[in-house]
Amino acid sequence: MTELEDARNNLKDALEKIGEEEYHSRLENPEKFIEVNFPVEMDNGEKKNFKGFRSQHSTVRGPGKGGIRFAPQINEQEVKALSIWMSLKCAIADIPYGGAKGGVIVDPSNLSDSEEERLSRSYIDAISEIIGVDKDIPAPDMNTSGKHMAWMMDEYSEDNRNHLPGVVTGKPVEAFGSKGRPESTGFGAVYIIEKIIEEENLDPENLTAAVQGFGNAAAPAVKKLDEIGVSVVATSDSSGATYQEEGFSYKKLTECREKNGTVCKVGKEISNEELLTLNVDFLIPAAIENVITEENAEKVSADYVVEIANGPTTREADQILDEKDVTMIPDVLANSGGVTVSYYEWVQNKTGEYWKRDKVLDKLRENIQEAYKQFREVRDSRDLYGREAAYIIGVQKILETMKARK
Ligand code: NAD
Repeated sequence: MTELEDARNNLKDALEKIGEEEYHSRLENPEKFIEVNFPVEMDNGEKKNFKGFRSQHSTVRGPGKGGIRFAPQINEQEVKALSIWMSLKCAIADIPYGGAKGGVIVDPSNLSDSEEERLSRSYIDAISEIIGVDKDIPAPDMNTSGKHMAWMMDEYSEDNRNHLPGVVTGKPVEAFGSKGRPESTGFGAVYIIEKIIEEENLDPENLTAAVQGFGNAAAPAVKKLDEIGVSVVATSDSSGATYQEEGFSYKKLTECREKNGTVCKVGKEISNEELLTLNVDFLIPAAIENVITEENAEKVSADYVVEIANGPTTREADQILDEKDVTMIPDVLANSGGVTVSYYEWVQNKTGEYWKRDKVLDKLRENIQEAYKQFREVRDSRDLYGREAAYIIGVQKILETMKARK
């Protein structure tokens, strides 16, 4: 099944559970979807044509919000699925945004920096009619980062002959970004783990975690786990995974990555597949999608799966994990720290008042722990699997606003 089919089926299940199935036809498709084709001048003077998309799934709860991917395999289905997840995520995090997503079919590793800049500017020009500070606010995603956002913000501001930093988020701090944004996704997930530890009366020193990935989202999660005393016994990157029974310090992992270009040389080398089946308390997929599938879900031995990556678990695997009583903290909740601090960045851009890092992270902790509390209440009171509970909360909030508006 594709990600879009999974997202639509999960939405359908949630709507059926709350007796609102008639809204499925409205919510399974985006409110607006555009495909754009635009030329970009290459360094050799040649003009090359690129295809991109923007999907605005819902603007019921506020402006569309969601990242931009630069990837060769990106397609209409993927962008639509990701925009559905963004609507749910913003509703679950209780921030006043709808959901959107965009992307360009391109392998950026084949482009120079100046070609990437021209591509970023041309893509923003192509979708400019549907984005805006109060309409739809893009952000970085796969293969895009702060520098792309600074170019996009500059292009949009110049075209509109106005200073409009709030048109995109995830900008560098020196170009109107927010302090605390780079660590927000990883820290957010660990703030939820802190709450679980507190509620279950656990001792962090006796707990272990395996984190798949060591990128923008995963590395800060490892740092925070290390700080709170949870032992990270395994981590990985695209070259493979590494395991050490007594756990790794964040410092040692970053030193190894700097020296060798990979973290997998720190401890015993294992495969990414083995990492997923380790007997740990917290399994944290934080790299790519579709890694926990019907082929390996039976072998997952963790008590909790905390999804920092988007879509790491397939619908078939969910059924198996549910039967095994694995506690699922789904992506739409676990990785919502990133979009929450994006919202704080937008608020700072709109007010012109910029906050200290501690204020940003304190607000994030309070917000995501409150979202987790609501999630836990719905999950436990109705005896639901984690993803079902999260989807129910998300769709219920969207429907409440929809009904209040019209
Ligand atoms: P990234 O590119 O910074 O890091 C990706 C990591 O995954 C790297 O360590 C890479 O080596 C590793 N990786 C790549 N291919 C792999 C493979 N086949 N097997 C194992 N590891 C592999 O990306 P990121 O921003 O950290 O995003 C990771 C995931 O988190 C994505 O699903 C993304 O959508 C999600 N996410 C990120 C953020 C954020 O703020 N960065 C927010 C929400 C969700």
